Amino acid sequence: MAKLPIPTLFSLRHFFILSLAFNVTLILRLMLYHQTQPFATTTTTTNFDTPILISSSSSSDTNRVINLDHGDPRVYERFWRQTGDKSTIIIPGWQSMSYFSDVSNICWFLEAEFAREVVRLHKVVGNAVTEGRHIVVGTGSSQLFLAALYALSPNDAPEPISVVCASPYYSSYPSMTDHLKSGLYKWGGDAESFDKEGPYIELVTSPNNPDGHVRRSKVNRSQGFLVHDLAYYWPQYTPISAPADHDLTLFTVSKSPGHAGMRIGWALVKNEEVAKKMTKFIELNTIGVSKDSQLRAAKVLRAVSDSWEQGNSNEGESFFKFSHKLMAKRWKQLRLVVERGGLFSLPKFSPAFCTFFNQVLEPQPAFVWLKCEGNVEDCESFLRGHNILTRSGIHFGVSPKYVRISMLDTDENFNHFLDRLSGIQS
Ligand code: PMP
Repeated sequence: MAKLPIPTLFSLRHFFILSLAFNVTLILRLMLYHQTQPFATTTTTTNFDTPILISSSSSSDTNRVINLDHGDPRVYERFWRQTGDKSTIIIPGWQSMSYFSDVSNICWFLEAEFAREVVRLHKVVGNAVTEGRHIVVGTGSSQLFLAALYALSPNDAPEPISVVCASPYYSSYPSMTDHLKSGLYKWGGDAESFDKEGPYIELVTSPNNPDGHVRRSKVNRSQGFLVHDLAYYWPQYTPISAPADHDLTLFTVSKSPGHAGMRIGWALVKNEEVAKKMTKFIELNTIGVSKDSQLRAAKVLRAVSDSWEQGNSNEGESFFKFSHKLMAKRWKQLRLVVERGGLFSLPKFSPAFCTFFNQVLEPQPAFVWLKCEGNVEDCESFLRGHNILTRSGIHFGVSPKYVRISMLDTDENFNHFLDRLSGIQS
């Protein structure tokens, strides 16, 4: 039998030094890893509706942090899991290599297949006029929002044009407008109190983020440019009353089929010069928009339209039936919990006729605009004390007695939220 060599004192010392060096490197690498992870903390609040880390590793249930601050649309994952090939694409290595899609189009990076599915879906749903419009695709409607501000701002004005929106307004508008301290445009605050003479840009979000109400422009003066942000004008959130027919309308796949991660939005633009300037902005910003994402978005939008046209009789198969039913269930559950106590109140909505579902329906927004009643002045802090993360009314230009809560999170998180709210009320 071969003898195992007995380590000498010299080799043992080497082994010890080597092992020490290895462990120190490992610790340093772990420390570096944690410093470079953007979502490494549990309670960071971003101004955008982007996901941040949800601390769900807590041992006891009441210690578990329920993060409903952002509007991450995880709610529809269950539907998309069932669709298989209908929403799956394979992109061969040689495809989508060029910067260009169609050089004869104003928006030269717009994929024809994506544009076709946008037009088709608006026809199926009846929520927007596409005839006589230029389609401009963007990396999310966020990029198109900035492109619209750039395109609508006069470039020879003595001062930046004011950008206004009636409060409560989407919390990202002020920071997106002012972040780069543009000389072209500047956040002008609440449209209700805006009384400056001259040109202005008004943002009309309908249904509104955060409160879910249907909106029209407020300022109503001759020198105004309107940007209609219709991210939530889809049948699962609000009754469709008529096809939107505006000068500049923004839509996004983030909230309709719920694919926020694709980062695809589109603008329907009446004026050719405005469409050209928006395209120029995107060209200067990102030299176009991911073709891979546009192709994937086309496939998903096609699956939505197909599911309505083919699966009309089968509830499980139509995306809008699935999503409407799911939102209806969540709102019903939430109202039951809130109405059981006197601590909170919810907005009231009037039912209206929906041309898509062909019946009178209640709005069921993507966010809850919750008010803390009684002497709770800071609703966000109050709920944070119960480990529920929400976004305070102050970010939307109103009182901290209000908070915005996402209705689009996973079933698991939403159910935890209901349980927690129920516990607070009892
Ligand atoms: N507008 C509104 C009203 C929104 O709520 C959001 C997303 N929270 C956006 C625009 C941005 O959407 P996208 O993901 O397409 O950039």
